[in-house]
Amino acid sequence: MLSVIYGAPWRCGIWTTRYRFRHPHAQATRHISSRFTLKELHQRRVLRANSATDVLAFTCSGYSTMSMSNGLPAKQAKTEDRAVSKFREYLRINTVQPDPDYGPAIKFLQDYAKELNLSTRVTEIVQGNPILVMTWTGVDPSLPSVLLNSHMDVVPVYPEHWKYDPFEAVKEDNGNIYARGSQDMKCVGIQYLEAIRKLQSKGVKLLRTIHISFVPDEEVGGHRGMELFVDHEDFKKLNVAFAMDEGLANEGPDFKVYYAERAPWWMQVTCTGQPGHGSAFIENTAAEKLRRVINSFLDYRAQQEKILKSNPQIGIGSVNTVNFTLVKGGVQPNVVPSEMTATFDMRITPSQNLSELEAEINQWLKEAGENITMKFLQKNMCQAVTSTDDTNPWWMAFKGACDSMGLQIKTEVFPAATDSRYIRAGGLPALGFSPMNNTPILLHDHNEFLNENIFLRGIDIYCEILPAIANVPA
Ligand SMILES: [Zn+2]
Repeated sequence: MLSVIYGAPWRCGIWTTRYRFRHPHAQATRHISSRFTLKELHQRRVLRANSATDVLAFTCSGYSTMSMSNGLPAKQAKTEDRAVSKFREYLRINTVQPDPDYGPAIKFLQDYAKELNLSTRVTEIVQGNPILVMTWTGVDPSLPSVLLNSHMDVVPVYPEHWKYDPFEAVKEDNGNIYARGSQDMKCVGIQYLEAIRKLQSKGVKLLRTIHISFVPDEEVGGHRGMELFVDHEDFKKLNVAFAMDEGLANEGPDFKVYYAERAPWWMQVTCTGQPGHGSAFIENTAAEKLRRVINSFLDYRAQQEKILKSNPQIGIGSVNTVNFTLVKGGVQPNVVPSEMTATFDMRITPSQNLSELEAEINQWLKEAGENITMKFLQKNMCQAVTSTDDTNPWWMAFKGACDSMGLQIKTEVFPAATDSRYIRAGGLPALGFSPMNNTPILLHDHNEFLNENIFLRGIDIYCEILPAIANVPA
């Protein structure tokens, strides 16, 4: 099916028309952009029929298209590594929050599992939020298993700030693949599967069973995904002993490994005060109280920032951050409102005493005046840490594999939150690791990209890590 979806000035002030193209055998909708109308394309005989090959071969002499159905000239696509093509195919499946349709992603992954002879099971605890688990059965399936987790959803985009359509997975000549989810974290999901494909092709058999989970909802808290799944019967049946999940890219040559996370606390503070006319000196206003509350939170922020900046040995995960993220109140410019609300996002390092911190926050509110209330929109009390010493055989296996490849690894507390917190809260060890070194951290940013060579190297890295962890002796 080929249809015009819009005509719009694309880049450089050039008027272009975008087409949506759906091939009967294609997994997802593809897009092409052209300076010509559909009628002109037919007149120029560059588009003869609604066939995939015609669109793939679509070129216009004297003009370059912004992107084609594949984002690539056809001859280049042919020589592309299959793993890279799979990665780009997955990136083109739009699973953007806040209302992702996971159906096409599940279909793509189920077909993928079939290719690899992996059994699958879908658990849908909350409607519209399927959890897919693939299983590669080990030599001894009675042993506790290894879980490789990734989330299917991605965060929203501001397309006007992107070089390319964020859901086209355009690959530049230098191998950089631009797409939402290229770092966070569709790359990792595909790397797990392609590593399994490589191991299988070598006839490798692993002692323990590996489960590969693809979960929804992570980018909005995982409350409809992993949080429920870890307590579900289907999860218990997996008999997981150790899990791997996402980490972060690193600009330098070393790889970051995350063994814990900061606990998110989202606090909404409501100040109530005397209303009145905007021309008067009303006493005891909501705004005055709110100012004192904001000052306390932001003073604390400055203190923590100073601790971080004064010690080059620690990462951001080792301090507490706080940001003032939402403000609400007022009805019109000349009315002093009776109520104003401020919301703060605090991330707390695992070594922080939580009750002491809560007492300190309550003290700030008390000092700011009367009639101030606070509601926790999120209050995570988990301070579980996965040990990174020789008491943890999973860590030793992981580290042994990294050492054998000569990888420089650096352990840190994850600065934000991932689904690992639910796994660790359930008492299981979990490591956060996305094999992306020499890569700028662009998760949730405009122009998120991953270089194909870094992506492919990641598959080789998992080819060492997976046997190491799945062969940890009983
Ligand atoms: Zn993520």
